[in-house]
Amino acid sequence: LLHQAAFLKSAQIVEQCPPDEGLEVAFAGRSNAGKSSAINRLTGQRSLARTSKTPGRTQLLNFFTLDEQRRLVDLPGYGYAKVDKAVRMQWQEHLDDYLARRECLTGLVLLMDIRHPLREFDQLMLEWSARSGMPLLILLTKADKLKFGAAKSALMQVTKTLKDHPAPLRVQLFSATSGQGCEQAWDQLAEWLRI
Ligand code: GDP
Repeated sequence: LLHQAAFLKSAQIVEQCPPDEGLEVAFAGRSNAGKSSAINRLTGQRSLARTSKTPGRTQLLNFFTLDEQRRLVDLPGYGYAKVDKAVRMQWQEHLDDYLARRECLTGLVLLMDIRHPLREFDQLMLEWSARSGMPLLILLTKADKLKFGAAKSALMQVTKTLKDHPAPLRVQLFSATSGQGCEQAWDQLAEWLRI
């Protein structure tokens, strides 16, 4: 089903989102975390979510349909220094709004570069998950960039830091390049989307 993903629409504000029905899983991550690459890999489509985009032009919620009842959402990423503070605050507001209001959201995939985990943006998403009880799948991306031992140790470190997280949480290694972690991520998405 994930391979059937097709671009549906972009929304700048919650009012432009598709009707709040069915099931939705969202992907979030700082700019450059590897979010687009992960979405493309998981859906088996090379250019569904555009990789290497122009900063500032992609700060939209992008919706992809799987079938009539199921969707993936690419949430805006943060982290580009080039964008001024006022604009960033505005994205933050729209993102908060989406997270607070979206009833059909059943899970959140948080992507973090394995070499730079748990930055400010990630903490915000973790806090929101803790408050709302939203289940989280954390993908430590670009795992292929580290040797096996270093990747394993990064995984253990993040897992340990988050051991008291009050919402359901899974942390795993992921590589869009090698495909590492895809099977487990698919399993989690299938559960959330009741596929
Ligand atoms: P986004 O801004 O979070 O959507 O990040 P992108 O998917 O555009 O990836 C940012 C950069 O990291 C690009 O140059 C990708 O080619 C690279 N990248 C993404 N995933 C991987 C991965 O699994 N392994 C490696 N080696 N590079 C990756």
